Amino acid sequence: MSDKRKKLQVSALKNGTVLDHIPSEHTFHVIKILGLENSKNPIYIGNHLESNKLGRKGIIKISDKYFAKDEINKISLVAPKATLIEIKDYEVISKTQVEIPEHIEKIVKCFNPKCVTNNQNVETKFTVITDHHGRMKLKCHYCEKTMAKENIEFL
Ligand SMILES: [Zn+2]
Repeated sequence: MSDKRKKLQVSALKNGTVLDHIPSEHTFHVIKILGLENSKNPIYIGNHLESNKLGRKGIIKISDKYFAKDEINKISLVAPKATLIEIKDYEVISKTQVEIPEHIEKIVKCFNPKCVTNNQNVETKFTVITDHHGRMKLKCHYCEKTMAKENIEFL
């Protein structure tokens, strides 16, 4: 895609954030985990757009909103190749690729019903690991159970 057309994709926002390069099948999942369905800010959602990197991608633009670290960590678990573009006064002030952190705290529920975090007032804590198939997994700090991506439930 030409630079000119690329620019047009983000130019509609005066202030806010563009989340680009979301795998198409996860665009609405990202909206859900960020609670954007309930947001009163103007949101533009594009899905199944052409992408050199992903084949088809989703893009979310949200006005007057900048994501906090916890929210970016959530995005990274669902869309690890997403690009986060922050805009102020029509200018791109930062463009970063989300990164899966080494540790995840609070934002994810442990899938083990017997885990202390599900039975007492203890906040969840996980280490991000990669199994021998190269798949990302979360290992609970307390019960040491390992959870696959499909079992991740956000708090
Ligand atoms: Zn646990």
